[in-house]
Amino acid sequence: MNKHDEVYAVLKTVDDPELPSVSVYDLGMVHDVVLNEQEVNIKMVPTFAGCPALEFIEIKVKKAVEELSWVGSCHVQFTMEHQWSTDAITNKGKIELKKHGIAPPPENYHPGDKWMVNCPYCNSDYTSMENVFGPTACRSILYCSACKNPFEAMKPVVQPLNLNH
Ligand SMILES: [Zn+2]
Repeated sequence: MNKHDEVYAVLKTVDDPELPSVSVYDLGMVHDVVLNEQEVNIKMVPTFAGCPALEFIEIKVKKAVEELSWVGSCHVQFTMEHQWSTDAITNKGKIELKKHGIAPPPENYHPGDKWMVNCPYCNSDYTSMENVFGPTACRSILYCSACKNPFEAMKPVVQPLNLNH
């Protein structure tokens, strides 16, 4: 395994503080890893702008990467240049989210599309969708009419489309 891969292997073990067992890598937050001798620079993309956990994530990532024997220091930078989208969540990440009772966002979502959320417990699409999301909510509580479980869903976030021709 080269050093680059070693850093990625570590990133796959750093969980989102709010979602134990879902790594920052599987959430699609890792934008870029740049090695400069013993210095590791990691660019990360914040998921939802309203989520307050970024500082914790930065500390956890830095600490985990610096445990690699060859790493002198690790710098984590959250970049706003690139927008995170729910498409960046890996398949493993989606499976882990379901285990938390969180419905992963729909795939191939386009802004303005109606979208269905399947219940993470029974996979039914017979779920309540009224007043689902506030403007800053990362996740929201929904209710499954089939198995009667409440569950959380992630709001789809897509890359803004360039509408200029
Ligand atoms: Zn259900």
